[in-house]
Amino acid sequence: MELEKTVCALATPPGPGGIAVVRVSGPQAYEAVEKVFRPLHRERSVRAAHGYTALLGHFVLRGQELDETIALFFRAPHSYTGEDVIELSVHGGSAMAESLLEALYLAGCAPAGPGEFTRRAVVNGRLSLTQAEAVMEIIAAGSRQGAALAKTALDGALAKTIGGIRERLQTLSAHLTAWIDYPEEDVPELAPGELTAALGAAKAQLDALIAGYGAGAVLRRGVDCVLLGRPNVGKSTLLNLLAGFDRAIVTPVAGTTRDVVEQAVQLGDIRLNLFDTAGVRDVGAQGDAVEAEGIRRSWNKLDEAGLVLAVFEAGAPLTEDDKAIAARCAGRPALAVLNKQDLQPPPNALAAQEQALRPYFRALLPLTAKDPASRDVLAGAVARLLGTAHVDTGAAALCSARQLAAATAARDALAAAIESQRQGLGPDAAGVCLADAQRALAELTGEDAGEATLDEVFSTFCVGK
Ligand code: GDP
Repeated sequence: MELEKTVCALATPPGPGGIAVVRVSGPQAYEAVEKVFRPLHRERSVRAAHGYTALLGHFVLRGQELDETIALFFRAPHSYTGEDVIELSVHGGSAMAESLLEALYLAGCAPAGPGEFTRRAVVNGRLSLTQAEAVMEIIAAGSRQGAALAKTALDGALAKTIGGIRERLQTLSAHLTAWIDYPEEDVPELAPGELTAALGAAKAQLDALIAGYGAGAVLRRGVDCVLLGRPNVGKSTLLNLLAGFDRAIVTPVAGTTRDVVEQAVQLGDIRLNLFDTAGVRDVGAQGDAVEAEGIRRSWNKLDEAGLVLAVFEAGAPLTEDDKAIAARCAGRPALAVLNKQDLQPPPNALAAQEQALRPYFRALLPLTAKDPASRDVLAGAVARLLGTAHVDTGAAALCSARQLAAATAARDALAAAIESQRQGLGPDAAGVCLADAQRALAELTGEDAGEATLDEVFSTFCVGK
């Protein structure tokens, strides 16, 4: 990335809308905008504009005065990127914004790459890498809870927690080094157990962050959800309950739900991305190709699903299909929905069914999918299963797979350090592991982030952010 270039891009989503905002950032921002923007009051000028002020005027393309424009000025370093920044608002829709971008290119600006404004903010020290990742999570957040979580990261809670851990490891490490390198200097030995206790405390903090990652990711990004069940157990009815309207056609005839239904629904704090409600059954000689395809997709999707809702008819003896479905759910984030409770199945039949299903599921949920009130019951059960019910959105949290990988590497290094002490291996072994842990943590916060890491993080950003 060349910081000496001045870049511009549309910062608002393309398409119809009230206004479109084009952002310009870089050392020549004021020069370039001066060429394309004519203030309404001729005594005013872009060059003389102070930071945090606005001017009304028009932009000009090839000598022609086009749309009415509001220019908002920021002076380095007091801007999002830390550079000179001007935001130009024109009428929404693509026509005006595209003409304005063309005028800016003609004035010497280059198009900004994905996430380039945020990347510049990181390179210029305005944001840490974890905060930059939080920016993206806020943009992508599927729920208010998810956005709140990302906002906490943007405020620097994660950077602070990791910083605290690193400081303590640094102290330990300095102590160990002194002890190893200058044995004659009489450096006081750490009391037995003191080293292990300090390592254990840091590891526990990382363990908590790692354990919370899944639930946080669900809140921010939603979860891919697959509905399973043999024909007629009530999958379509459950889908309608989730969607809140008749999205799928419900009929008492077996095997009418054939298409993959892809739809996002908000269930409490969680966005469910629903896939494939085709009747899952053992397609024998009588099965047709379309149903076979639907079932195949359903099984395929199962591996990626963050939530599986398997529907059974409450109290009915398990069929071979039911058993096959239950077996597929083992070890997955799966909830068994025992549907049609309103038909009041005999308690002993229910108990037998629950006993047979329990080994394969994280939880069993008696439900009446037909009753709209069941939605809240289902929402509660899903939140408990995915661990989102107790997420503290104000606490530090890991918010990307990259951060998770770095935290896990650091945690594993600390575990190795603790193990080395348990085996009586002496301080140098612990020192080597500690150095590994510190490197991983530095990578997490992005202090030593190289171009490759920055490329990886920002490649997933949108242009204009
Ligand atoms: P699918 O084939 O699994 O999609 O099942 P459907 O949703 O089409 O439902 C099959 C039949 O069961 C329909 O007649 C539904 O009205 C009925 N049904 C679904 N849920 C319930 C429920 O909670 N209680 C009762 N009594 N009937 C239900």
